[in-house]
Amino acid sequence: MATVLTEPKSIQALIKQTRILIGNKWVDSVSGKTFETVNPATGEVLAKVAEADAADVDLAVKAARKAFHAKAPWRRMSASERGKLLHRLADLIEQNADELATLESLDNGKPRHVARTADLPLVIACYRYYAGWADKIQGKTIPISGDYFCYTRHEPVGVVGQIIPWNFPLLMQAWKLAPALACGNTVVLKVAEQTPLTALRVGELILEAGFPEGVVNILPGYGPTAGGAIARHMDIDKVAFTGSTEVGHLIMKAAAETNLKRVTLELGGKSPNIIFSDADMDHAVEGSHFALFFNQGQCCCAGSRVFVEEKIYDEFVQRSADRAKRRRVGDPLDQNTEQGPQVDQEQFNKVLSYIDSGKKEGARMLTGGERVGDRGYFVAPTVFSDVKDEMKIAQEEIFGPVMSILKFKDMDELVERANKTMYGLAAAVWTRDISKAHNVANNVRAGTVWVNCFDVFDAAAPFGGFKQSGIGRELGEYGLQQYSEIKTVTVKL
Ligand code: ADP
Repeated sequence: MATVLTEPKSIQALIKQTRILIGNKWVDSVSGKTFETVNPATGEVLAKVAEADAADVDLAVKAARKAFHAKAPWRRMSASERGKLLHRLADLIEQNADELATLESLDNGKPRHVARTADLPLVIACYRYYAGWADKIQGKTIPISGDYFCYTRHEPVGVVGQIIPWNFPLLMQAWKLAPALACGNTVVLKVAEQTPLTALRVGELILEAGFPEGVVNILPGYGPTAGGAIARHMDIDKVAFTGSTEVGHLIMKAAAETNLKRVTLELGGKSPNIIFSDADMDHAVEGSHFALFFNQGQCCCAGSRVFVEEKIYDEFVQRSADRAKRRRVGDPLDQNTEQGPQVDQEQFNKVLSYIDSGKKEGARMLTGGERVGDRGYFVAPTVFSDVKDEMKIAQEEIFGPVMSILKFKDMDELVERANKTMYGLAAAVWTRDISKAHNVANNVRAGTVWVNCFDVFDAAAPFGGFKQSGIGRELGEYGLQQYSEIKTVTVKL
């Protein structure tokens, strides 16, 4: 494994912001506490960051509420002007994309070149997409009975609390901020404790773009404290959360027990990735490799249950194991690296314990299974065959570079097995037979189905889960619905 290239001095120059953003000012936490964010490639501390808690959330909500006042600049601003601000932010992110990609790589562990060519372009496109929507969010006129004029207004929900995870820090920030701001809401955003740095840098760009005071407030901090305070806050109108299904339950419970704030959730998955014997084998092997191992396996939609038709099972297993063996694990700043470290020690331990459970339950491990190197949180790409539906590695979200390959005989058995999970985020099918593809697409219970491809994301295409993978959709026109209230106005003529 190559050694980590960046000098400590150049790392420090990249970290420009470590405080909390409230009311367009950078402040320390009320408690004065900080926490450490670590470079997962080395285990070394990158920076100490202000630790927000309930008191800071309270101040942020006050700032956001003030910014939402009918007479405040944000509310008096025209919709097209809101769009312009979002465009300006997209431009600033684009101008700083190299630096943001490096910072994202340092804080999260993902390969820098992946952040630069995948995450950043998606982030910029998301802000631009919703910038375009800002002045196209409109209601209807409705021909009700009687002598009345009836119309609807799509108004912002109000103060929106947003809680995001660490696997795509910049992208999750964009998915949350862009539609909320396009609709005219104000935001209190809590970023993940593992990866606060890029979101704070974007906070600086938000100020540079010229967003009015208090429209966007950004708080680094822990889940149960700062995150919990958002979920419970009586003056937050809506909470949007991305993270584990377990915490999704807590968020919804907190909303139910307080002010019935609107809740949207994007949660875990255990997505079936289905390979029929007539599929293009080269594409299916490479596509399935990407579907599972992309982002160190840390994707909520990872194709983590690979169902392969009996006839091609042995060949597919062999070729997938060979491909995983060739995967280049190493320094995230190295241009040739395909896989960096897991985000932190906790995730690293969790992934290794799932590998252990796969072995104990009798799945066959063809490659991987151990740590790579002696520092940082690198896990060797791991492939299990002979996986059975009821095994833990086929049921629970591993969130790491561990592929589980299962065998299937025919379509009827397949769809039932594919759906036998509490999750329903995504699915994929690889086949040359259009009717098989549509049969799966229509019958699998998942929010997104990819046919002969995987992880194709676009700001215009909605994403979200069936069942316990979530509530609501992000992205696209559907994403706007989660950030507006519909008001009906009826006028006697
Ligand atoms: P993961 O297991 O992938 O870290 P989590 O659901 O634990 O996913 O975390 C996703 C986000 O939710 C993070 O910002 C985290 O701080 C936050 N979070 C964790 N626990 C809670 C909680 N009890 N209440 C609110 N937010 C939480």
